Amino acid sequence: MKNFADLVAFHGHACGGLALGYKACELAAEKLDLHFSEDEEIVAITETDSCTVDAIQVLLGCTAGKGNLFVHNWGKTAFSFYRRDTQTSIRLVAVPDAVPKNTRMVELRPKIMDGSATPAEDEEFHRLAHAHVDEILSLPAEKLFTIKEAVQPLPQEAKIYNNVVCSVCGEQVADGLAKQIEGNYICIPCQMRK
Ligand SMILES: [Zn+2]
Ligand SMILES: [Zn+2]
Repeated sequence: MKNFADLVAFHGHACGGLALGYKACELAAEKLDLHFSEDEEIVAITETDSCTVDAIQVLLGCTAGKGNLFVHNWGKTAFSFYRRDTQTSIRLVAVPDAVPKNTRMVELRPKIMDGSATPAEDEEFHRLAHAHVDEILSLPAEKLFTIKEAVQPLPQEAKIYNNVVCSVCGEQVADGLAKQIEGNYICIPCQMRK
C-alpha cells in the first residue's frame, strides 16, 4: 500500500481528514485483505465528500474515473468497502470524538482562512495541524472506527455504453444516458435546458 506522503502528494496538503481516511483504508485492508484495485475488484461507498475520500482513491484504487467509488455528501464519516471476488464487505463509522479536538486550532482557523493571522499565529497553526495529523496516524484504527455491516447493496459494475449524437446540441453522448424520443436522442443537459 502507498504511504501517507503519497497521499499528501495527491491531495495537496496534509490534514486530519486525510489522516482519518488513511486509517479507514488501513483497517478495511486488514479486515478484508484488500490490495490496490487495478480494476473494479474493490468498491467503496463514502457517506461524506470530505478530504478522507482522496485517501481511498490513492490507497485502494477506488476512483471517480473507474466507477468503483460512490461519494455521497451525507455529512457522515462512514465508508463501506466491498470485495467483488469474495462478496465480503465492511462499513466503518467514525467513533464520535475519537480524535481529540484541538481548541486552539479551532480558534485560529478563521484567522488563517481570512488571512488576518500574524506570522506567529500562522506558524502556531501549522505546527498544531502537523501534530494533529501525527496524532490521528498514531491512534489504533479500531479506536477511530466502529466496524459494522455494510447496509447498501454492492453496486453493479460500471456500464459500457455506445456513443450516439444528441439531436439538440449535436454533441456525442452515451446511449444509455440519453433520452430517446421518436428515434432521436437527447442528452441530459439538453433535457434540463427545456
Ligand atoms: Zn484536506
Ligand atoms: Zn444535447
